[in-house]
Amino acid sequence: MMTDSTDLCPICGEGRLQPKIGKNPVEYKSETTKLDLHFSLCDACGSEQADPDQTRANKRLMIAFKKRVDGLLAGGEVRVLREKLGLSQAEAARVFGGGQVAFSKYEHDDVAQSEAMDKLLRLAAEMPSAFDLLCRQAGLERVLAGERWQQAANWTAEPRRPTEVKRSVLRVVSSSRPTAGQQARYAA
Ligand SMILES: [Zn+2]
Repeated sequence: MMTDSTDLCPICGEGRLQPKIGKNPVEYKSETTKLDLHFSLCDACGSEQADPDQTRANKRLMIAFKKRVDGLLAGGEVRVLREKLGLSQAEAARVFGGGQVAFSKYEHDDVAQSEAMDKLLRLAAEMPSAFDLLCRQAGLERVLAGERWQQAANWTAEPRRPTEVKRSVLRVVSSSRPTAGQQARYAA
Protein backbone atom coordinates (compact mmCIF):
# COMPACT_ATOMS: atom_id res chain seq x y z
CA MET A 1 0.00 0.00 0.00
CA MET A 2 1.26 3.46 -0.92
CA THR A 3 1.99 5.75 1.96
CA ASP A 4 0.07 8.96 1.55
CA SER A 5 1.79 11.83 3.31
CA THR A 6 -1.61 13.39 4.00
CA ASP A 7 -2.39 10.41 6.24
CA LEU A 8 0.55 11.21 8.51
CA CYS A 9 -0.45 12.67 11.86
CA PRO A 10 0.75 16.29 11.90
CA ILE A 11 0.88 16.24 15.69
CA CYS A 12 3.22 13.32 16.38
CA GLY A 13 4.54 12.94 12.84
CA GLU A 14 4.60 9.16 13.16
CA GLY A 15 1.09 7.79 13.39
CA ARG A 16 -1.37 7.36 10.56
CA LEU A 17 -4.70 9.14 10.55
CA GLN A 18 -7.71 6.86 10.31
CA PRO A 19 -10.97 8.49 9.19
CA LYS A 20 -13.80 7.92 11.65
CA ILE A 21 -17.44 8.86 11.92
CA GLY A 22 -18.68 9.43 15.44
CA LYS A 23 -21.93 10.72 16.87
CA ASN A 24 -22.23 14.33 17.86
CA PRO A 25 -25.15 15.21 20.17
CA VAL A 26 -26.31 18.73 19.31
CA GLU A 27 -29.05 21.04 20.49
CA TYR A 28 -30.73 23.93 18.68
CA LYS A 29 -33.77 25.81 19.93
CA SER A 30 -34.37 23.07 22.50
CA GLU A 31 -34.42 20.35 19.80
CA THR A 32 -31.77 17.69 20.16
CA THR A 33 -30.37 15.16 17.75
CA LYS A 34 -27.21 13.20 17.07
CA LEU A 35 -25.33 14.22 13.94
CA ASP A 36 -22.52 12.30 12.29
CA LEU A 37 -19.16 13.74 13.28
CA HIS A 38 -16.35 13.31 10.76
CA PHE A 39 -12.84 13.27 12.16
CA SER A 40 -9.56 11.36 12.01
CA LEU A 41 -7.90 9.43 14.79
CA CYS A 42 -4.13 9.01 14.99
CA ASP A 43 -3.21 5.36 15.56
CA ALA A 44 -0.05 6.38 17.41
CA CYS A 45 -0.73 9.36 19.66
CA GLY A 46 -4.52 9.02 19.74
CA SER A 47 -5.20 12.64 18.88
CA GLU A 48 -8.44 13.45 17.10
CA GLN A 49 -8.47 16.04 14.35
CA ALA A 50 -10.63 17.15 11.45
CA ASP A 51 -9.22 18.19 8.09
CA PRO A 52 -10.91 20.95 6.05
CA ASP A 53 -13.14 18.46 4.18
CA GLN A 54 -14.29 16.87 7.44
CA THR A 55 -14.83 20.26 9.04
CA ARG A 56 -16.95 21.34 6.06
CA ALA A 57 -19.00 18.12 6.21
CA ASN A 58 -19.65 18.62 9.94
CA LYS A 59 -20.64 22.24 9.40
CA ARG A 60 -23.07 21.28 6.61
CA LEU A 61 -24.73 18.67 8.82
CA MET A 62 -25.22 21.26 11.54
CA ILE A 63 -26.66 23.84 9.15
CA ALA A 64 -28.99 21.21 7.66
CA PHE A 65 -30.20 20.37 11.16
CA LYS A 66 -30.83 24.05 11.97
CA LYS A 67 -32.75 24.50 8.70
CA ARG A 68 -34.92 21.52 9.60
CA VAL A 69 -35.67 22.93 13.06
CA ASP A 70 -36.39 26.39 11.57
CA GLY A 71 -38.75 24.88 8.98
CA LEU A 72 -36.60 26.08 6.05
CA LEU A 73 -36.20 24.22 2.78
CA ALA A 74 -33.38 21.68 2.88
CA GLY A 75 -30.47 22.22 0.50
CA GLY A 76 -31.66 19.39 -1.75
CA GLU A 77 -35.17 20.86 -1.83
CA VAL A 78 -33.83 24.25 -2.93
CA ARG A 79 -31.96 22.53 -5.76
CA VAL A 80 -35.02 20.54 -6.89
CA LEU A 81 -37.20 23.65 -6.77
CA ARG A 82 -34.67 25.73 -8.75
CA GLU A 83 -34.24 23.03 -11.39
CA LYS A 84 -37.98 22.59 -11.78
CA LEU A 85 -38.29 26.32 -12.33
CA GLY A 86 -35.76 25.89 -15.13
CA LEU A 87 -33.15 28.22 -13.64
CA SER A 88 -29.38 27.92 -13.36
CA GLN A 89 -27.89 28.91 -10.01
CA ALA A 90 -26.79 32.25 -11.48
CA GLU A 91 -30.26 32.89 -12.94
CA ALA A 92 -31.88 32.00 -9.61
CA ALA A 93 -29.71 34.63 -7.92
CA ARG A 94 -30.84 37.19 -10.51
CA VAL A 95 -34.50 36.30 -10.00
CA PHE A 96 -34.57 35.86 -6.23
CA GLY A 97 -31.51 37.80 -5.03
CA GLY A 98 -28.97 36.60 -2.52
CA GLY A 99 -25.81 37.19 -4.54
CA GLN A 100 -23.87 35.33 -7.19
CA VAL A 101 -23.01 32.17 -5.20
CA ALA A 102 -26.06 32.17 -2.94
CA PHE A 103 -27.76 29.16 -4.48
CA SER A 104 -24.66 27.01 -4.47
CA LYS A 105 -24.37 27.73 -0.76
CA TYR A 106 -28.04 27.11 -0.01
CA GLU A 107 -28.05 23.86 -1.96
CA HIS A 108 -24.92 22.50 -0.27
CA ASP A 109 -26.11 23.54 3.19
CA ASP A 110 -23.13 25.86 3.49
CA VAL A 111 -25.51 28.67 4.39
CA ALA A 112 -29.13 28.76 5.54
CA GLN A 113 -31.35 30.92 3.35
CA SER A 114 -33.21 33.65 5.18
CA GLU A 115 -36.83 33.13 6.16
CA ALA A 116 -37.74 35.79 3.57
CA MET A 117 -35.86 33.96 0.81
CA ASP A 118 -37.49 30.70 1.84
CA LYS A 119 -40.94 32.22 1.57
CA LEU A 120 -40.13 33.79 -1.79
CA LEU A 121 -38.99 30.45 -3.23
CA ARG A 122 -42.11 28.68 -2.03
CA LEU A 123 -44.30 31.46 -3.41
CA ALA A 124 -42.61 31.29 -6.82
CA ALA A 125 -43.11 27.54 -6.93
CA GLU A 126 -46.79 27.86 -6.07
CA MET A 127 -47.76 30.88 -8.17
CA PRO A 128 -46.82 31.05 -11.85
CA SER A 129 -47.81 34.71 -12.05
CA ALA A 130 -45.47 35.62 -9.18
CA PHE A 131 -42.62 33.68 -10.76
CA ASP A 132 -43.27 35.28 -14.16
CA LEU A 133 -43.15 38.72 -12.61
CA LEU A 134 -39.87 38.03 -10.82
CA CYS A 135 -38.34 36.68 -14.06
CA ARG A 136 -39.42 39.73 -16.03
CA GLN A 137 -38.09 42.07 -13.35
CA ALA A 138 -34.77 40.24 -13.54
CA GLY A 139 -34.75 40.65 -17.32
CA LEU A 140 -35.06 36.93 -17.94
CA GLU A 141 -37.12 36.17 -20.99
CA ARG A 142 -37.59 32.56 -20.07
CA VAL A 143 -41.10 31.89 -18.84
CA LEU A 144 -42.24 28.53 -17.64
CA ALA A 145 -45.14 27.26 -19.66
CA GLY A 146 -47.13 24.14 -20.35
CA GLU A 147 -45.52 20.91 -19.31
CA ARG A 148 -42.60 22.52 -17.53
CA TRP A 149 -44.90 24.59 -15.43
CA GLN A 150 -46.90 21.49 -14.54
CA GLN A 151 -43.70 19.88 -13.30
CA ALA A 152 -42.94 22.88 -11.16
CA ALA A 153 -46.50 23.04 -9.87
CA ASN A 154 -46.25 19.41 -8.79
CA TRP A 155 -43.21 20.25 -6.73
CA THR A 156 -43.80 19.69 -3.05
CA ALA A 157 -41.68 20.30 0.00
CA GLU A 158 -42.27 19.79 3.65
CA PRO A 159 -44.55 22.62 4.75
CA ARG A 160 -43.04 25.11 7.12
CA ARG A 161 -44.21 24.22 10.58
CA PRO A 162 -45.70 27.59 11.52
CA THR A 163 -47.47 27.76 8.14
CA GLU A 164 -48.83 24.28 8.54
CA VAL A 165 -50.83 25.35 11.58
CA LYS A 166 -52.22 28.40 9.82
CA ARG A 167 -53.12 26.35 6.74
CA SER A 168 -55.28 23.92 8.66
CA VAL A 169 -57.16 26.87 10.13
CA LEU A 170 -57.59 28.37 6.67
CA ARG A 171 -58.98 25.12 5.32
CA VAL A 172 -61.81 25.14 7.85
CA VAL A 173 -62.72 28.73 7.07
CA SER A 174 -62.66 28.23 3.31
CA SER A 175 -64.71 25.07 3.18
CA SER A 176 -67.35 26.67 0.95
CA ARG A 177 -66.84 26.47 -2.80
CA PRO A 178 -65.20 29.50 -4.39
CA THR A 179 -67.48 31.66 -6.48
CA ALA A 180 -67.06 31.84 -10.23
CA GLY A 181 -65.53 35.28 -9.80
CA GLN A 182 -62.97 33.98 -7.31
CA GLN A 183 -62.16 31.03 -9.53
CA ALA A 184 -61.57 33.32 -12.48
CA ARG A 185 -59.35 35.58 -10.40
CA TYR A 186 -57.31 32.76 -8.89
CA ALA A 187 -56.94 31.05 -12.24
CA ALA A 188 -55.77 34.24 -13.93
ZN1 LIG B 1 -0.35 11.29 16.15
